Amino acid sequence: MPSPDIAAVADEAVTLVSELIQIDTTNTGDPDTLVGERAAAEYVAEKLTEVGYEITYVESGGRDRHNVIARLPGADPNRDALLIHGHLDVVPADASEWSVHPFSGAIRDGYVWGRGAVDMKDMLGMTLALARHYKRNNIVPPRELIFAFLADEEAGGQYGAQWLVSHRPELFEGATEAISEVGGFSLTLTEDVRAYLIETAEKGIRWMKLRVRGTAGHGSMINNDNAVTKLAEAVAKLGNHQFPLVLTDSVREFFAGVSDLTGLEFPEDDLDGAVAKLGGIARVVGATLRDTATPTMLNAGYKANVIPSVAEATVDCRILPGRMAAFNAELDEILGPDIEREWLELEPVETTFDGPLVEAMRTSLLAEDPDAHTLPYMLSGGTDAKAFDKLGIRSFGFCPLRLPPELDFAALFHGVDERVPVDALKFGTRVLDRFLRSC
Ligand SMILES: [Zn+2]
Repeated sequence: MPSPDIAAVADEAVTLVSELIQIDTTNTGDPDTLVGERAAAEYVAEKLTEVGYEITYVESGGRDRHNVIARLPGADPNRDALLIHGHLDVVPADASEWSVHPFSGAIRDGYVWGRGAVDMKDMLGMTLALARHYKRNNIVPPRELIFAFLADEEAGGQYGAQWLVSHRPELFEGATEAISEVGGFSLTLTEDVRAYLIETAEKGIRWMKLRVRGTAGHGSMINNDNAVTKLAEAVAKLGNHQFPLVLTDSVREFFAGVSDLTGLEFPEDDLDGAVAKLGGIARVVGATLRDTATPTMLNAGYKANVIPSVAEATVDCRILPGRMAAFNAELDEILGPDIEREWLELEPVETTFDGPLVEAMRTSLLAEDPDAHTLPYMLSGGTDAKAFDKLGIRSFGFCPLRLPPELDFAALFHGVDERVPVDALKFGTRVLDRFLRSC
């Protein structure tokens, strides 16, 4: 059953999403450039304490980073807690490229617009509205709910989820399962078949800094030990390399589910061609078939006629579950021994698509959309789920949104004109309400 006054809760969710977007929480990855993370955390803290929550406010990592955690006790103390987490920060946005100001939170043409609309102030707003609703009305869900609003996800969570898991694990004690971003959205497969993709797996992230040393010298003279040349060769080799096709369980199950629903075949000799037929989401699904190593930054030299002694590049590597050793071996072969490597790494995660929690997701979606089908899928990127995996918490991407078929949802993540349909937020609030009160 939905909460009786759920329409008002859904309206509040829309307002909260808009207000959260208006707090610019840009995270460039450089802590010195951080802006509104504190303001956003204080806003959330205020919204929770206003209705009677006791919150834990954590400034993590000694770096002026801000997190808010609150618990709502459940009816059955013997059941494990469910963690609902979301990140407060967003990636940068260049206002000159947008049709509305990225931090306006404008509600226009049926959408809430702005940086964070789908990543992931949508879920923050829906969660916050429901948390407030339950507290105000003494609604007690079956299991304890832990709400966590976190810093720094967009830079890998070093000063957010990763820090809390290492230094304050007691904040998540009792939680065995979690839901968060990048799943639960609808993908229209055919006119009357909507599949809601629930994230059950994530590729690992490894940001690699390559460093090549050579012999410094004058740009006018012969030099066969040029760091820039050697680096460029290595970067080009990596960028052009295709890693082998590997079908993990989540991906296999996703293809099988789409085949059942649509008749579309996924032959191994033309997987890329078949995946392309899925539309915008192909950018994500296509990237879960192989490891990738994508050069993203270059840094070398300071003057036109000076050969520098060092050249550096950054490579964004994404690794499938179970592939780490094989990936390393392949990398060794491509790069050889002379290139120094420095890593920031976050492990891949994968869980199974079964059990009562998954059943509760399916039931809640079906109650609000009788044409709903649910499918597991692997995210090609990463989220804070990787941090909570270290505590043995089983993670799902479940931020329910019923999307219009023509919307290229995948393109909105970190994209220009990021926006979320107002109706989808209301739908999501209703689904989450059913889910949290039944799971
Ligand atoms: Zn995100």
